[in-house]
Amino acid sequence: MSLEGKVALVTGASRGIGEDIAKHLAAAGATVAVAARTEEVSDPRLPGTIHTVAAAIREAGGKALAVRMDVRSPESVSAGVEKTVSELGRLDIIVNNAAVLVPGTIETIKERHIDLIWEIDLRGPLLLIKHSIPHMRAAGGGHIINISSVAALFPGPGPYDNPRKGGAFYGMIKAGLERYTQGLAMELQDASIAVNALSPEGRIKTPGNLFGENSRENPSLEFEAADLMGKAARWICEQPATYTGHILFDVDVCRDRGL
Ligand code: NAP
Repeated sequence: MSLEGKVALVTGASRGIGEDIAKHLAAAGATVAVAARTEEVSDPRLPGTIHTVAAAIREAGGKALAVRMDVRSPESVSAGVEKTVSELGRLDIIVNNAAVLVPGTIETIKERHIDLIWEIDLRGPLLLIKHSIPHMRAAGGGHIINISSVAALFPGPGPYDNPRKGGAFYGMIKAGLERYTQGLAMELQDASIAVNALSPEGRIKTPGNLFGENSRENPSLEFEAADLMGKAARWICEQPATYTGHILFDVDVCRDRGL
């Protein structure tokens, strides 16, 4: 199924996995609202802006709109959704991809980092979904994809050999996002809005991942192919809205569907 005529909004699309998903949805015919905060690069370790990604999509023959959005701010989320709908006419697909990792354990984490990860990684998706639903209903339905992580399942029951310290906050937030994905899928079934979660099965070499302390400490870390998330997200958006409530890994989707 082509995504021609559909409008998709992808958060965290200025670089990394969000950029890849935005480009794949545009290649399938969707007009993509490239949403994130960066309009000018100020740190070479964080390349990419909403404008460079939107321009790359247009140069490849696709349709894109740069939308400045800080998912920590309810006003910014609301304004970004309204800009998308007023300039592109509708909203069919949202991808909640923007997220951060925070350092520390319960004993060392800074309180501001607890606020940060909750506001970006979990409250952000809730705000975007809330502001988007009226427009998605008006469009006759669509797809919501929440980007999660294997961290949602980590570490399982103990005792633990070589216990790793840190990462539990991120896992908690992603587990919450996955649980909410299925609750929301049930709530929105009547509106023909499918809600699914999609995770990398391993690690993808993105600016965010390279910034993360685990990668820095382990230079031999293996990375999976960068475009698996884009291919899998495109495949999900091409399904009917009855394909809903799934917690998926990119590698499985690409292998099982021959992508
Ligand atoms: P990344 O390279 O750090 O990119 C993060 C994106 O989020 C950037 O575009 C950033 O753009 C945006 N962002 C950060 N704060 C924001 C805010 N307040 N408002 C709006 N946008 C914001 O991350 P990534 O590795 O591509 O990860 C993308 C997703 O995949 C995340 O949900 C992550 O948890 C998940 N994931 C990644 C991996 C991996 O191996 N890379 C593994 C498992 C799960 P601006 O700075 O321009 O705002």
